[in-house]
Amino acid sequence: MAEQDLTRELKMVTDSAQPVCQRGGKSFLNLSSNNYLGLAGHPQLADAMGQAMSRGAGSPSSRLIVGHEEETDQLESELANWQSSEAALVFGNGYMANVGVLSALLRREDAVFSDRLNHASIVDGIRLSGATHFRYRHRDLDHLEICLKKADEKGTRRKLIVTDAVFSMDGDVAPLQDMVYLKERYGAALFVDEAHSVGVIGVQGKGLAHELGIADQVDLHMGTFSKAFGVYGAYVTGKREWIRYLIHTARSFIYTTALPPVVISAIRRSLQLVQQRSVLRQSLSGKCHYFREGLSQAGFRLTDSTTPIIPIMLGDSSRTLEFSQRLAERGILAVAIRPPTVPNGEARIRFSLMANHREEDLREAIRTIVQIGYECKVIG
Ligand code: PMP
Repeated sequence: MAEQDLTRELKMVTDSAQPVCQRGGKSFLNLSSNNYLGLAGHPQLADAMGQAMSRGAGSPSSRLIVGHEEETDQLESELANWQSSEAALVFGNGYMANVGVLSALLRREDAVFSDRLNHASIVDGIRLSGATHFRYRHRDLDHLEICLKKADEKGTRRKLIVTDAVFSMDGDVAPLQDMVYLKERYGAALFVDEAHSVGVIGVQGKGLAHELGIADQVDLHMGTFSKAFGVYGAYVTGKREWIRYLIHTARSFIYTTALPPVVISAIRRSLQLVQQRSVLRQSLSGKCHYFREGLSQAGFRLTDSTTPIIPIMLGDSSRTLEFSQRLAERGILAVAIRPPTVPNGEARIRFSLMANHREEDLREAIRTIVQIGYECKVIG
């Protein structure tokens, strides 16, 4: 990795969830956080955590031993209600949810169809399951259909289609309506990872599947509490029977300690805020539109992003690193995303916006990014 200039460093950041953070004693406009609604620093979450502290800093055991507390049960009911699902199950985090669900649902005799740009946790869950892995081209439904046909010809036992709702490195969205059509046509099940869409998209922040009106045709939904919710942890919702099955079989649910009470309490409070604060979603959406337009008009190559994840595509890794360093020199924190996180030749700067970014800071940021674009000869 060193030979290819692909090594990374852990760089210390203070106030990493805030619109303005600090590194090495200097302030930066933070354009790298997943705290989309700005809730991570919300006083109501700190208040919920403070009240729950009396029940202990940690959890006593795994959920199936003595770690299933009343408040976790309440949270799962609230999540099921919010998502209009029969049942919900809380996991330690999104990575564990994806690995647990996929390795529990799939066996060697099964086939799984996964978008080439799906999150690493999906890829790892599939590998662990041993199922035949069809990686279809990004958002390419014709290719997905070819793969479904191939699996049928091979006499596969069961089929599962899995996709991110919002792709974490591109910020574009999956064509879920057409995927539902294909799932029905080929008798497959559908699992959607809404990590970057819950809280951000749809009425009450219910996510992309709800926004498109097809939520009841998705067999399992997953979302994390670490992004728009501003806390930590994750959930899966679906039919009661499926959730019961996961309780018995998802190893990353069974063999791990339950989330601490302080975290569960903060998630419950955050769920209320996520449902109520549509004003935050509107503010975020307006800022994203403004930011995207500014960069596009300046001539940057963007993705098909319609979300708060707004990358500019630079291609070459060393040029992307240099761009990121120049941004840092001028007070903007936006990291270079390079292979192997993205395919070779597709290095990029990935900006992500928050509802509580100040408009004047974003205006100034666009000006700086454009200036660096000229200096690095990325735009003409
Ligand atoms: N799925 C997607 C699409 C993600 O972007 C992430 C986080 N980067 C995860 C799952 C994992 O979630 P968590 O951070 O809660 O483990």
